[in-house]
Amino acid sequence: MKLIILAAPGAGKGTQAEMLSKHFEIPTISTGAILRKNMEDGTELGAVAKNYINEGKFVPDELIIDIVKNRLNEDDCKNGFILDGFPRNLAQAEALDKSGIDIDAVLTLEVKDDEIVERLSGRLECKKCGSSFHKEHRKPEIDGICDNCGGELRVREDDKPEVIRDRLKTYYEQTEPLKEYYKNKGMLKVAVGKSEIKATTQEVLKVLEA
Ligand code: AMP
Repeated sequence: MKLIILAAPGAGKGTQAEMLSKHFEIPTISTGAILRKNMEDGTELGAVAKNYINEGKFVPDELIIDIVKNRLNEDDCKNGFILDGFPRNLAQAEALDKSGIDIDAVLTLEVKDDEIVERLSGRLECKKCGSSFHKEHRKPEIDGICDNCGGELRVREDDKPEVIRDRLKTYYEQTEPLKEYYKNKGMLKVAVGKSEIKATTQEVLKVLEA
């Protein structure tokens, strides 16, 4: 399964990518997680990315396209992968088309805007493995600690209210039009996000099998 998940920030694409990754036993390639890891490690890429990410803007296409192409060439992607957060605009989608990498389906997760803001403002992320939690709706078993790897949980810099607004604006301007792009190619699968993670995964699997 070679899958793209296309959804607004906070719609649960990272969490669903995690669930699908376990289900299909294929890796998730999250461009946001790769960039955050670079920021954490203090690399040159991380230093460049930080300026864009903390303002809710996209990192330049050339950088992202290179990261994704290199990552998809690694051995563990041979039997499939889930792209979480790429492509995010038309130039990236066209670059992916040109790369000759076949994609089986593009999944969208539909979640209402006010719910998205609510989810993002309570989100906690594991510093180590990137798993997402929520202060109210997906509390970790031990406060501040990741259930999956024991890593420390933090609030992402770009989950601050003023940045959330900019990220949503960028999403609607640049990423949402990709739905039409993939619909026209007959690749689009639409799932409606539920409040429960497991219920959303069931819906997603149903949609992918249809
Ligand atoms: P995410 O973890 O997917 O919400 O991504 C966090 C941030 O990383 C985004 O708001 C962008 O600033 C940057 N980013 C992630 N993926 C991309 C991409 N495909 N193109 C440009 N910027 C990206």
